[in-house]
Amino acid sequence: MRQKNTKVKRFFWEKCKKAFDKQGINRYNISCTTMKQGIIMLLRLSKIMDTPDSVVPFETALDLHDMQFGSNCPVTEPVAAKGLVKNTAGVLLLEAELKTVLHGICDRCASPFEREVVVPVRAVLTAQLQNEDEADEWTFLLQDDTADLDEILTTAFVLNMDSKLLCKPSCKGLCCRCGKNLNDGPCSCRPEADPRLAVLGQLLKDK
Ligand SMILES: [Zn+2]
Ligand SMILES: [Zn+2]
Repeated sequence: MRQKNTKVKRFFWEKCKKAFDKQGINRYNISCTTMKQGIIMLLRLSKIMDTPDSVVPFETALDLHDMQFGSNCPVTEPVAAKGLVKNTAGVLLLEAELKTVLHGICDRCASPFEREVVVPVRAVLTAQLQNEDEADEWTFLLQDDTADLDEILTTAFVLNMDSKLLCKPSCKGLCCRCGKNLNDGPCSCRPEADPRLAVLGQLLKDK
């Protein structure tokens, strides 16, 4: 999982160089800080750190248009993100929902498609890890009481995507002989003759 996170981070830094030249998509408790890597979204949590049951809500959008899934970059629309961080018995839990519409080309039938995706996010935010074993992909370290929202939400989105991009999970693909899109109905290719039936046919002919 470490590896996956590193990959996500690399995506993230590359993306940051270009991201957020758009105006007005950051709202609500989020500050944008310019770092040498680019602009990143930070959520300040100092006011809920020591207060059980207190909450910091947030709402923002991610720009993942240059991220590749399957053989294309289908996230052409902003990914809307809405959620909150809650102090639950001293543990900071982030819960959010990501929503966007993918515009892709199916890796199986090659048809263009649009599909809404909704990704639930649940993550634990911690100031320091008690031990190494605690570190999984859903635990994120805070820095100076702030959460790197972009990293957390982008990680959640990437981990949720399948490696193949399909128009629908049940896509039937193309006929390997005539190339017809089998989602539109069966083609007129005859099924391959079963060799056992061929033997039977021969026996009948010999009769
Ligand atoms: Zn398809
Ligand atoms: Zn066919």
